[in-house]
Amino acid sequence: MSDGATVVTDLLTRQFGERLALDSVTLSVSAGEVFGLLGHNGAGKTTAVRLLNGLLTPTSGVAQVLGLSPVDDGPQIRARTGVLTETPALDDRLTGRENLRFFARVFGLSREEATQRTDELIEMFGLSDRGGEQVAMYSRGMRQRIALARTMLHKPEILFLDEPTSGLDPVASRQVQDMVIALQNQGTTILLCTHNLEEAERVCNRVAVLEQGRVIALGSPRELASEVSPPQIEIEVDPAHKESAASLISELHPELILKTDEETLVRIEGLARSDIPVVLRALALREIDVYQVTSQQLSLEDVYFALHQRMMER
Ligand code: ATP
Repeated sequence: MSDGATVVTDLLTRQFGERLALDSVTLSVSAGEVFGLLGHNGAGKTTAVRLLNGLLTPTSGVAQVLGLSPVDDGPQIRARTGVLTETPALDDRLTGRENLRFFARVFGLSREEATQRTDELIEMFGLSDRGGEQVAMYSRGMRQRIALARTMLHKPEILFLDEPTSGLDPVASRQVQDMVIALQNQGTTILLCTHNLEEAERVCNRVAVLEQGRVIALGSPRELASEVSPPQIEIEVDPAHKESAASLISELHPELILKTDEETLVRIEGLARSDIPVVLRALALREIDVYQVTSQQLSLEDVYFALHQRMMER
């Protein structure tokens, strides 16, 4: 079932009474990937994380994490994964360093290992100056960095981050996102739950969009954007050649929708990326000068709202 993936689910379903929190979710996350679980409040993201760590049992369907079964091997999985919950509890009376050292000991590291790993993480998370201060004095962003560092104490192979930037200002959010990218560069696989679309677009290789427990779209942000609406290409030509450029492109690709309502622009909807050079070569052969080519791609936010709208119209 695993096929090189670190997280695999097959029709994973969890019901609470009448409510389907997760409904027949099938997905696979590759090693080293940052995979986003996107969805509104209540879409089922936290339920998915709890199922994958063996903290909940599925109503039906199966999951595999690092080749293990969350139902049977929960403790072994949790020894090799890190989880950042939405509201991580830190001991406010201890310093950042003391918090990390304490949890390192809980994870079974020796005294020396705990000190060494704490030093590494304090440095890596940019807290060298403030590591000796009580956590009660920290900003929310610093608390979140310490909480994230704590999930890394035992060098987990997979990190589950549940809304890691919720409640943080843009600067602190950016710092946490940069840490996620740095952790991925060190080889950690990351499953990131978020409803922050900008964040998903910035850090995720692929995302699954969850709506009422179901996956309604799956792919890279770029793939999802093309699925919802093919990218629009704008080709800027000399105004004198606009009409001949448009008719040449129509001859090459009669299936495309062309708009020529502006003086110098030919807008093309539905042109595959691989066909752009073909069109440009044809224009050059007819000696039609091209000044600029731009691609108008939907953002993940546009995609998300379009998908949501589709769901509502069903
Ligand atoms: P949020 O972004 O608000 O954290 P989420 O996407 O993580 O939301 P979940 O917490 O997984 O969503 O919840 C999915 C659905 O399951 C919600 O309707 C929630 O009320 C319900 N639910 C989750 N846990 C329980 C529980 N222990 N008992 C009953 N219902 C639950």
